[in-house]
Amino acid sequence: MQKLIETQNLFTDFNTFEGVVKALNGVALVVNEGETYGLVGESGCGKSVAVRSMMRIVQAPGRITDGKVLIFFRAEDRSRGIDILRRSEAYMTSIRGDSISMIFQEACTSLNPVLSIGFQVGESFHFHRRAQMLEETIRELDEELGRGGFFLARGWKRLCRSLFARELGALKEYEAAIDSIDHELYQLEQATAGEALRRKGSLQRRHDRLGEKSALAEAAKRVPFLRRYQHRLERTVRRQVVELLRSLGVPNPERIAEGYPHELSGGMQQRIVIAIALACHPVLLIADEPTSNLDVTIQAQIVELIKSLKQKVISSVLFITHDLGLVAEICDRASVMYAGDIAETASVRELFRNPLHPYTQGLMASVPKVSQTGELATIPGTVPNLIDPPSGCRFHPRCPHAMEICKGVKPPTIEHSPGHWVACYLYPDGKK
Ligand code: SF4
Repeated sequence: MQKLIETQNLFTDFNTFEGVVKALNGVALVVNEGETYGLVGESGCGKSVAVRSMMRIVQAPGRITDGKVLIFFRAEDRSRGIDILRRSEAYMTSIRGDSISMIFQEACTSLNPVLSIGFQVGESFHFHRRAQMLEETIRELDEELGRGGFFLARGWKRLCRSLFARELGALKEYEAAIDSIDHELYQLEQATAGEALRRKGSLQRRHDRLGEKSALAEAAKRVPFLRRYQHRLERTVRRQVVELLRSLGVPNPERIAEGYPHELSGGMQQRIVIAIALACHPVLLIADEPTSNLDVTIQAQIVELIKSLKQKVISSVLFITHDLGLVAEICDRASVMYAGDIAETASVRELFRNPLHPYTQGLMASVPKVSQTGELATIPGTVPNLIDPPSGCRFHPRCPHAMEICKGVKPPTIEHSPGHWVACYLYPDGKK
């Protein structure tokens, strides 16, 4: 199966006044093309930090201290992958929201309350599909010009067309230049020889000079006359936004696009957040607890929506949740996380039939059964403080099978059976 994204030995720390929070402790996971992958674990185990590290959006005082995040979907290198931790911020900006996008927890806090829905959804089109939007607007103007009309109107349309064409040219030039410079910088990353270092320095300076926008786009922000011609582009973007909202089952999308987040229900806000994430048809959609804070009927609708989108639009989904029922329902494979470590990874069927890690077994046992009477099973103890995590296996203070060796060194992850990986000393040679 073709890999889509892979993390290798990923470490992320947070420097706080109390000490360094070691949130990720060498996380390794792989999401393949076409699969729905679940990342499951208690609150505070590092699921969200793991995906934020994968997208390089860990905010200060957080810091990725070691590891690799390899992507395999860019044509540059599909076999070995590209380590995005070593690429420039401009490269990351071109990927985020485009090839990889994310649905954040709590839709109401993800949306900006003072900007209209249409504006917020349209931002993705402006940012990642600007060339396409410009081409479409130019095509539209050509059609209108072909139909004739009042000479003043035609003059204005011709002027708009030429301004859009210039912006399109500048944008394409910028994208090509930044892409090739970025690629060359990546190749020279490890360079130490004098000549290579000089080349690297000059490329870096050119990269910084290029900035992020075309000169015309910058000018359009300042000159009132130029700002007016942008209205034509806004119309094209707004049409795309309405179409996208309609495709996601949003009723009356024209009116919703004009409205603001506070006018919508929780389920509708979640659909808007999904629309923003899907605007550019990402190859990987990361859904960070997309159904938390929603009632069960809306939860079911959102899960159905993500499942149907997975078949039609997106290649793969990385689904983060603490709900094992959801994992069973929508995921193909899943990893169980505990205190910044991946404890176990397997296909969902295998994970539920034969959980190996004592933590996974504890989680499965704590799911209430319909026929159950008496007290619910729990995992004794609490999640450790990650400023001073337990040595060796981080689960050992709560593990009913803990041995002396567990307190010393972190257990290696071994393949117990094909595709079923576990990090536990109970399975030293691949078998219990
Ligand atoms: Fe328990 Fe030891 Fe396995 Fe950790 S390594 S889960 S402490 S048996």
